[in-house]
This record gives sequence, C-alpha cells and structure tokens, in this order.
Amino acid sequence: MQLIDHVFDQRHIWHPYTSLTTPLPVYPVVSAQGVELQLESGERLVDGMASWWSAVHGYNHPELNAAAKAQIDQMAHVMFGGITHAPAVDVSKRLVALTPDPLDAVFLADSGSIAVEVAIKMALQYQVSRGKPSKSSLITIRQGYHGDTFAAMSVCDPVNGMHELFTGILPKHYFVPAPTLRPWDAWDEHEMAALRNELEQHHEHIAALILEPIVQGAGGMRFYHPNYLKRARALCDQFDILLIADEIATGFGRTGKLFACEHAQIVPDILCVGKALSGGYMTLAATLTTREVADTIGHGPGGGALMHGPTFMGNPLACAVAAKSLELIARNDWQAQVAAIGRQLSEELAPCAALQGVADVRCFGAIGVVEMHQPVDVAEAQRFFVSQGVWIRPFGKLIYIMPPYIITQAQLARLTTAIFAWCKQVSD
Ligand SMILES: *Cc1c(COP(=O)(O)O)cnc(C)c1O
Repeated sequence: MQLIDHVFDQRHIWHPYTSLTTPLPVYPVVSAQGVELQLESGERLVDGMASWWSAVHGYNHPELNAAAKAQIDQMAHVMFGGITHAPAVDVSKRLVALTPDPLDAVFLADSGSIAVEVAIKMALQYQVSRGKPSKSSLITIRQGYHGDTFAAMSVCDPVNGMHELFTGILPKHYFVPAPTLRPWDAWDEHEMAALRNELEQHHEHIAALILEPIVQGAGGMRFYHPNYLKRARALCDQFDILLIADEIATGFGRTGKLFACEHAQIVPDILCVGKALSGGYMTLAATLTTREVADTIGHGPGGGALMHGPTFMGNPLACAVAAKSLELIARNDWQAQVAAIGRQLSEELAPCAALQGVADVRCFGAIGVVEMHQPVDVAEAQRFFVSQGVWIRPFGKLIYIMPPYIITQAQLARLTTAIFAWCKQVSD
C-alpha cells in the first residue's frame, strides 16, 4: 500500500478553506467502496457526506467504473471548440430529458461555481440582447451559497460568504432576508413582503433572481416553504426578471424529488446542476436554459455567442461517467431510498433535540441537520467521529449528513448514533 506523505501535505498543500500556517488535521484515505472510506490505518468509515452531496450511488461503483474505463480507452479528453463527441451528446440528451420541458439548451461547465458564472452571464447577456442593459444586477436571498468564484461569491450570503474580505471587488447585488417558514409550517403571505418590496423598487435594475430551491446548503443548511418558491416564480414573471435555480446540491433526488423545484411545481428559466451529476466521480456541472433565453442571446450583440468556453468543457471522461450516473438515476429506485433515509434520519436524530447543546434538529429528503448553540470544534469533532467509525465533517454550528442513497439501515444508524453521542458529550 502507498504511504501518504503527511508532513509534506500539512506543510505545502491547501485543503478547502484552510490555513497553511495553522493546518487542520487531515485523514489519509486510500480507497473507498460502497458507503465506506478506508483509511491508511486500515480503519473503515461510514461516509455521511457523500463527498459533499456528490457520491449518490456510492464509491467504486462497478457500472460507473466500467463507463470510465471504456471512455479512457477511446479518449480521456479532446477540446470542445469545433469538435463534438458522443459522451457530451449523451449526457446532454439525458439532462434535457430529465429536466422540466422548456429547459432544452445545455452548457457543460467544469464545476458548480462555473455553472453559476455561466448562469449569471446568460441572464446578463439575455437582458442586453433584448434591449434592457440597465437590468444588470442580481437579487438573491440571504443564507445562500453559490460557489467560490467572484460572481458566484457575490450572491453568497454577505456575512458567512466573507464579503468583507473582498469589499470593493465584489459586485453589489440586492439581498432580501432568507425565508423563515419551513416546508412543514403553516403558510403566511407575509413571507413574500421583503422580496416583493425589493422587486417593486428595483426591478428595472435586476436581471435575475438566483436562489437554491427549498434547501439552502452550505450557507446554513436551511429548508424553506415551497410556496415561497412558487410565489417567487410568479414575482419574477410579474417584474420581468429571470429565475435562476441553483440545484447543484439539491439536484438528482436528494430532496425527495428529482429537482427541488418540483416541490413547488415551478420551472426556472435557468437551472444549474453539478455535484451528483457525475455520481461523485469527476468534476462536471451544467447550466440549462430555455430555447427563448438561448435564442434571445443568439440574436444579441457579438454575433449572438454565449461568451464562455473553458479548456476542459465537455470533458469526455466526466461526461461518459455522468451519462451512466444519470442512467442509474433513471433506472434505480432513488425515491424509495431517499424516503427511507429521510424517515430514519427524522426518527434517530430526534432525540438530539432534547440535549442542552442542541439548538435545532431538522431533516428534509435524505438530509439530516443538527444545529448546535455553539460553533463545533471541527478537528475535535472529526477525531471523535473517526473513533466511532464514521465520516462526518461539521461546519460552523452545523453537524449535517447527506449520505449516499445506497446506505443501509445499519450504516445510517452508525452515523446517527455517533451524532447523538457527540451532541451528548458536548451537552454534558
Ligand atoms: C457546491 C455548490 C456550488 C459550487 O460548486 P463547486 O463545484 O464547488 O464549484 C454552487 N452552488 C451550490 C448550491 C452548491 O452546493
């Protein structure tokens, strides 16, 4: 077995959102199989994170492996400028088929953040192309997360999205408070007042509303009422702005519907997908839009070109695996899997709510969240979870899991037991 140079790693390699000066501990993983990660030490951990929402079918999946191996023997990569290939056409066909009807134009992006950049660019180019260049800002709800590149960051929550670090560089957009009513709360029309007011005042300067439908992920793991999304869609139509749905975390079944927009029976003008798109194998994302938006851009300035084209756009290896992953989504009974995970999470995390250190417990789809009163010491919590044979990575006050859909009841019980044990330990 290869030995991982841990000292070099800590000294020279940045991990997500970390300091090289005071590095946090990292755990050497040598392989992954099904729902388990195997550490260099030989320990196996039940994975609660699905590698940040992505590995929905589990690791080392035989059919995804076969798709990758078959493709690598054809070609790993070829430029997409002036060239096309079967994997790109295949995955795009599947995306058009799986997404709601008016969405039929596909841009293959190389990561979620880039899919959001492209969505924003589409919205801005659309408004310019139809002679409304003053509609050049975005509106969004607080507590959102849309990625780490600059345009994406500019619509992340201004507080936990670290806007103050980049003041003066980030474009300024319109923010309204995050929705407060949860999916199971009684609906109250007052919930829409802030968004309606802001749109009434500023719609002439606004190109699009961007939000994560129903589940706000990395900005706070919050769930909100489908009627909010339904009303937001109607307001976008009323005030002549586009709706961008960022389903990078929620897409492909995680919330119990194939896309979270379906909870509100609405269709966005622009849809971003990523994360689970390649089954967690490779970086791939996509931005879809309607024929109307695509054609308006197509008749616009600059010869109608959508001005984006990354080097690894439509990477054949990633597209081939993603096409297979979407085939698995279409074929497998993810609805039953997600529902079963949701039921078990609700039941087994509920006792955490009685503990002193716990502020809130909430579950939606195959997502379970325990919010603490105090920020979690990530290094200490990780050490504890690893000692319990599970992989869970908290952030801020949140301990949350969104496991692979194939997790067994016994594996999920190990995750919920470990979460309860941690919460109990910090509460006592
Ligand atoms: C993860 C995420 C992104 C960013 O995707 P990357 O692939 O990390 O760039 C954007 N939006 C949402 C909702 C996400 O969860």
